[in-house]
Amino acid sequence: MSELTLSDINQAGKRVIKEVKDVQLYIDGAFVDAESHKQFDNYNPFTNEKINKVASGAEADIDKAVKAARKAFKGEWGNLSQNERLSYIYKIADLIDEHIEEIAPLESYDTGLPISQTKKMVARAAQNFRFYAEMVKSRLVGDAYQVDHDFLNYTIHKPVGVAGLITPWNAPFMLETWKIAPALATGNTVVLKPAEWSPLTANRLAEIIDKAGLPDGVFNVVHGYGETAGASLVAHEDVELISFTGETATGSEIMKNGADTLKRFSMELGGKSPIIVFDDADFERAIDACTWGIFSFNGERCTANSRLYVHEDIASDFIAALKDRVENIVVGDPMKDDTQVGPLIHTKHYESVKSYLELAKEEGCQVISGSVPEEHSRGNFVAPTLLLNADTSMRVVQEEIFGPVIAVMTFKDEAEAVDLANNVRYGLAGYVWTKDLQRGHRVAQAVDAGMLWINSQNVRDLRTPFGGSKHSGIGREGGHYAFEFYTEVQIIHVALGDHRIPQFGKK
Ligand code: NAD
Repeated sequence: MSELTLSDINQAGKRVIKEVKDVQLYIDGAFVDAESHKQFDNYNPFTNEKINKVASGAEADIDKAVKAARKAFKGEWGNLSQNERLSYIYKIADLIDEHIEEIAPLESYDTGLPISQTKKMVARAAQNFRFYAEMVKSRLVGDAYQVDHDFLNYTIHKPVGVAGLITPWNAPFMLETWKIAPALATGNTVVLKPAEWSPLTANRLAEIIDKAGLPDGVFNVVHGYGETAGASLVAHEDVELISFTGETATGSEIMKNGADTLKRFSMELGGKSPIIVFDDADFERAIDACTWGIFSFNGERCTANSRLYVHEDIASDFIAALKDRVENIVVGDPMKDDTQVGPLIHTKHYESVKSYLELAKEEGCQVISGSVPEEHSRGNFVAPTLLLNADTSMRVVQEEIFGPVIAVMTFKDEAEAVDLANNVRYGLAGYVWTKDLQRGHRVAQAVDAGMLWINSQNVRDLRTPFGGSKHSGIGREGGHYAFEFYTEVQIIHVALGDHRIPQFGKK
């Protein structure tokens, strides 16, 4: 039986975990219960013991939060100078940095993500705030056009209003800040609806924002179920935009629900990303990339390379090396520094991933799994798994499993590799491994996906866009793309002289 050890984390981490209390909503600068006083339970994925209770917000709470956000937008927040506003954004970044040693363990405790991985994500979250503060300083005035000596036309970027942000449970803290940072830096106010399975760090962020001294109502957090809290946020007439990250089916539902109020949407959705390994690839690095790309973050990662296409000439060596890795991956306590794969987020998700392993057998795959130490039988552990003899017609190749499971297939030539890679409805990411860089570029450009990496894995400069094509999303986050999404462009036409205006009706 596995118990929470907390052995490898520092004192700050141990303290925050021991001090975890019930999660409330954060509305108009105060932590409050849901109007209905309803709560739901939150579990630790490693032991499956209850951690705490979470306030279950719904329509009335969303309405309260949106009203507070609207008031702040029209009032104190909207009246700040840009420098004053950005000083808060830098303050949030500094406070996140100061508290990484608390936030990372809290995230691992809530999600099962290994601590070595959550530490990096929390550091990245602080960078998100600094990055957008810098961008806003350089970009709030857009284009300018002079027409002869008569007119000057210029654009400005104004905040849109109240931003509704709906986020998933994988990498929750980092993904939340990905949206909150550009939304606030550009002058919007925010109502965040975090995922119900990972509520802890959203409230830690609310505490940080509270401590940074932002005016009441600028940032609000309403926990609750998607169908109640989430749907009310989407339908609310005073919410101007929705930035959503989550499953494709949810994204589609949200677009329907937001249509009546003509919201703008950003959709970051599911993936089933291919990794294509040619016979001239750097074998060891390709193995590292393939293994890390599917098994890091417990395989609960939108850009995971969940489909491997390996050239038939190197397939048997490549698969043998992968089997070796799978057997030796360190599966265990997410709080331990050397853990590489932790437990999945929730028993429901665990059941779903397990059912895909059964389906894989029914569909004719050979299922090869590593092992989970026996003492971890209480956690939601799925061992790293290879699905051999997979093919395009199978559901396990077409559907997002969102766990540490990779479907393995082979190809004969470049054209077949591209064809197989494109033969799913998703188009989030892709990876190409070859020493022939001309081929690398050619294949990358032929793959229908928003993000391609050649001989690398998931390294992204904050200035570059993030997002998918086909059923993996609409629009892009990151870089100036997020800046555009969270701002309204206004064009100002100024007459520089007394230009003549047609004199209708003048005698
Ligand atoms: P999900 O769609 O079940 O839930 C995401 C959020 O939407 C949660 O906060 C949920 O409460 C809310 N929600 C659910 N139904 C809703 C509704 N009807 N109206 C409004 N809100 C609703 O997704 P998940 O299981 O939390 O996350 C995993 C999914 O997210 C995977 O498909 C993964 O690929 C995707 N993801 C995509 C990216 C990306 O950038 N493309 C990044 C991370 C995760």
